[in-house]
Amino acid sequence: PERLLQLDNVGVHFPTRDGLVKAVNGVSYHVNKGEVLGIVGESGSGKSVTARSIMRLQPKNAINASGTIRYRCKSGEELLINEQDRLGRTMRNLRGNEIGMIFQEPMTALSPVHTIGTQIMRTVMLHRQVSKADARARAIELLTKVQMPRPTDIVDRFPHHLSGGMRQRAMIALALACDPALLIADEPTTALDVTTEAQILELLKRLQDEMNMAIVFITHNFGVVADIADRVAVMYLGRVVETGTVDEIFYEPKHPYTQALLQSIPRLGQSHGRRLRTIAGMVPDPFNVPTGCSFHPRCMQAVGGICDVKTPDDVVFASGQRARCHFAGQDRQAEAAQ
Ligand code: SF4
Ligand code: MG
Repeated sequence: PERLLQLDNVGVHFPTRDGLVKAVNGVSYHVNKGEVLGIVGESGSGKSVTARSIMRLQPKNAINASGTIRYRCKSGEELLINEQDRLGRTMRNLRGNEIGMIFQEPMTALSPVHTIGTQIMRTVMLHRQVSKADARARAIELLTKVQMPRPTDIVDRFPHHLSGGMRQRAMIALALACDPALLIADEPTTALDVTTEAQILELLKRLQDEMNMAIVFITHNFGVVADIADRVAVMYLGRVVETGTVDEIFYEPKHPYTQALLQSIPRLGQSHGRRLRTIAGMVPDPFNVPTGCSFHPRCMQAVGGICDVKTPDDVVFASGQRARCHFAGQDRQAEAAQ
């Protein structure tokens, strides 16, 4: 498989009155062309902050403390995103033309003062040499593609004329305006009711297939991940703690955190639409990252004198599955149960 995006040891910190918050603390993951990578984790795990660093869409006070982000452009050229000026021409071209982004709240991407059509046309004309008429035709084509009802009517409407689900479709149309090779989807269905969520997921799956587009799909919903992802990265307190294929993560999770998350879902077959339930122990606090393995205060399998002292590295399995735990693969869960 051809690599599209590669993050290595990415660190993003935020200075605050109470000290430095290491929101992202050495994250590595990759996405191949045409592949869906699900990123799962509780809020505060750094999922969104990491994704925004790919687009260089970060708050001004963000400190890009470490790491490299490589992206293979449509032209075949490899770009080091972390070396680009966030407001520069390369990043403007990358956003929209190479990488699209959709959010939980559509109005993050849509302007309230322009029609849906105008917004899509602007994006198309920014990246392509096309006439206004062609850009409008493209806007209607895109609205049709995202299964917007009455696209020739909706193209002249403002976002406030649209229902929540329709706004979501408009935002997707806008993100896909220039056929991006990568779509970053940050909890795009979290705020929707279960029926609309299922429709939008179906739509994204179909578009992903038709356009052979890669997706980084951020969610805290394991059911959604099972539905859409090829591979999964599980994040905890600014780190990726486990990566593997969907089957590996669901049927052979190697990290105690992943195991605990899966145990909090009543039954896999019925997991669709369910949110991650909070697992036992303190909610992770990025201001106060525990020593050693940062999961140790909540880990049922923690070993005193090791887990609270030593930071684990990835254990890499033959299949490529990785788990950041001192005891990964040693089946300590079975031992603990005895
Ligand atoms: Fe649990 Fe220790 Fe593994 Fe961390 S390193 S996940 S505390 S067993
Ligand atoms: Mg988030």
